[in-house]
Amino acid sequence: MDTSKKTFVTQPLLPSLEEFIPYLEKIWKNKILTNNGAFHQQLEAELCKYLGVKHISLFCNGTIALITALQALKITGEVITTPYSFVASTHALWWNNIKPVFVDIEPDYFTLDPTKIEAAITPNTTAILPVHVYGNPCKMVEIQKIADTYGLKVIYDACHTFGVKQNNIPVLNFGDLSVMSFHATKVFNTFEGGAIVCHDATMKQRIDNLKNFGFAGETTVVAPGINAKMNEVQAAMGLLQLKNIDAAIVKRKQIAESYRSALQGIQGLGLLEDMPAVKHCYSYFPVFINHEKYGKSRDEVYELLKQHNIYGRRYFYPLISQFPTYRGLESAKPENLPIAERITEEVICLPIYPELEKDTIVKICKILMK
Ligand SMILES: *Cc1c(COP(=O)(O)O)cnc(C)c1O
Repeated sequence: MDTSKKTFVTQPLLPSLEEFIPYLEKIWKNKILTNNGAFHQQLEAELCKYLGVKHISLFCNGTIALITALQALKITGEVITTPYSFVASTHALWWNNIKPVFVDIEPDYFTLDPTKIEAAITPNTTAILPVHVYGNPCKMVEIQKIADTYGLKVIYDACHTFGVKQNNIPVLNFGDLSVMSFHATKVFNTFEGGAIVCHDATMKQRIDNLKNFGFAGETTVVAPGINAKMNEVQAAMGLLQLKNIDAAIVKRKQIAESYRSALQGIQGLGLLEDMPAVKHCYSYFPVFINHEKYGKSRDEVYELLKQHNIYGRRYFYPLISQFPTYRGLESAKPENLPIAERITEEVICLPIYPELEKDTIVKICKILMK
């Protein structure tokens, strides 16, 4: 093994270039590069089938899809969300002039804690934006019950989940809308890309209009839309990626299992086990360092790995509520978010991607076992 080689937290899934060429030739021949082309339509159909959802609308990326999802439902005022996510979850609210209201996460899988939601509801609350963080399904039944009681919409940030099912039901079928990301670093990528999943044809049409400037016909504009379309090269990439995705997830699962068997039982090093009755996509492999019990801080572990050319990532540190844009909010106060404040200091995500070598996994585990 080349020990000078750097290992990053992820490496994009790529099909063979050879297989991609015929798709490009087709695009060159048809001269349709975007605007709901043939590959775009085909990818929407194939994703619906693969993911087990009724309707999907493809986007240029996950962040614009989140922003558009909020527009589609005309969400305003305040939205309850989690501080423990990638910044884009909350930025999407900000871009819609919506006030984020942070609620703490639950201590087992770090998704929005439904028992803390009601206390954060005000007359201005219009929706809940939970995140299936690390691909672990939120407590969707409890969240929906609160939403129904208070007349709130639910938009799931499902950017970490691809093909995740709970009790054999795709998690994407919960809530009013779910938003996906197909960014290069995600389990399934189209270079950049994203999608909104919805449950009826009328909503699908509204989302399709919104992502294309609001056009509902050649001369009819029904909403102040945006340009958020996925192009044909991205869609072609997605079609090819779908052929390899099952094998990629199996490899991710094997890596997670290797880490778990090597790292379990280490004093002060916490692991996330698979949730019961959930088919996971193994998008991340977070470990949690308890400074006192492990004998080193998370940041010391992060630096130590780096010295060995292993580049873990502290997902999610800092919390979204700690960034300058949001830290002044009442709900961003640390005492409001004790679990998130603790977990953000303990977490480090280890490399996980289909081509990660066995030797590298062994090397990482050895560093952590010292
Ligand atoms: C990746 C990600 C996004 C943003 O998706 P992009 O496609 O990169 O714009 C949003 N939310 C979460 C939780 C993510 O991980």
